[in-house]
Amino acid sequence: MTAAFPGTRLHSATRLLHAGAPALRDGAGPVNVPVVRTSTVRFENTAAQADHHHRRTAGERVASYGRHGLDTHRALEDAVVGLEGGHRAFLTPSGLSAITLVLLALLSPGDHALVADGVYAPLRRVDSTLLQRLGITVEYLSPTHDDLASRLRPNTRLLYLESPSSLLYEVLDLPALSAVARDRGVTVATDNTWSGGWFHQPLALGANISIQAATKYISGHSDLMQGIVVVDSPALAAKLSTAYEALGLTIGADDAYLALRGLRTLPVRLAQHQRNATAVAEFLQQQPQVSRVFYPALPTDPGHALWKRDFSGASGLVSFEFRHATTAAANAFVDALRLFGIGASWGGYESLALAAQPERLREHRQWTGDAPVVRLHIGLEEPQDLIADLAQAFADAAPAL
Ligand SMILES: *Cc1c(COP(=O)(O)O)cnc(C)c1O
Repeated sequence: MTAAFPGTRLHSATRLLHAGAPALRDGAGPVNVPVVRTSTVRFENTAAQADHHHRRTAGERVASYGRHGLDTHRALEDAVVGLEGGHRAFLTPSGLSAITLVLLALLSPGDHALVADGVYAPLRRVDSTLLQRLGITVEYLSPTHDDLASRLRPNTRLLYLESPSSLLYEVLDLPALSAVARDRGVTVATDNTWSGGWFHQPLALGANISIQAATKYISGHSDLMQGIVVVDSPALAAKLSTAYEALGLTIGADDAYLALRGLRTLPVRLAQHQRNATAVAEFLQQQPQVSRVFYPALPTDPGHALWKRDFSGASGLVSFEFRHATTAAANAFVDALRLFGIGASWGGYESLALAAQPERLREHRQWTGDAPVVRLHIGLEEPQDLIADLAQAFADAAPAL
């Protein structure tokens, strides 16, 4: 392919496959975008350098120094801007740094932010260690139990969401929440890591900013740490850009390349994660030791209708609650797994299990249980092998469950 077919609106999966393909020179060239590693940029003369500098300060995405990133970064940014349907993307060294960037870019001393109580837990540490020190007030709300309008204050600048939520996958009504916030001039940011940006487009549903840990599904191979922020307007791009530069954020070209490579197969991987996770979720629902399975694609999940409306698929994350087990028994179950690795993170090709910490669960208003919860990331193994592993762990830990 040399260029997009004129007059043809290509499907997203096709665009992801060809995003950033370099132009041919002398009738030939590589398939992939080159990895352009550099610490600086060379100019033909001082006038060219001044011109680049001016265009950059006027908001144009041109590089005048290595930290700005060259072709590889640019190709990745363009691909994720297309994926999320936004205006501009910022690449950060981790998902958490993407979150911190958004908070620091938008909040000033005296400002107030409302944060959904089911967000990625380390955000609370950013609040307690950094934002509080800067005189920024963060309050947590349950977007499904609390009335957002009455929680907004005159100095509220940001509504920060994550849908579905971490650990329990509570699906939020993003269009309704965004409408309330935007009506009061409050910026809406949401963490879109769960969907990989493929199953859910928050900017089309009312959010202003979509954040992803590319560490998870965009990488897809558990070999990359990276965050991505996509904003919907030049005004927000300018705010993010100021903070991004002040913090000296950048990523390496090799990491940009890995994310771009992951994007090529994101749709096929996610479709398989969904098939495998659905098979595992249905198996878990039939186990007498399990009282509840958290997976929005299950018709019994309370978020199912919203998920069906706002998402085009479900990821590989499935949590379940034991009916009677103690924490020690739940840990024994996890220890009895052989194929599942034990650990945090997710989004790679391999399956992982994690015993949820009760204090994390209690942060979610939605959580009313007291039995242990295990989070599974269902990878790309044959689902029958995963189910067999879970079955043997249930049998092994049976006396305690
Ligand atoms: C993992 C994760 C992050 C943080 O990403 P890192 O790259 O590990 O810093 C942010 N949000 C969600 C929902 C995550 O699961």
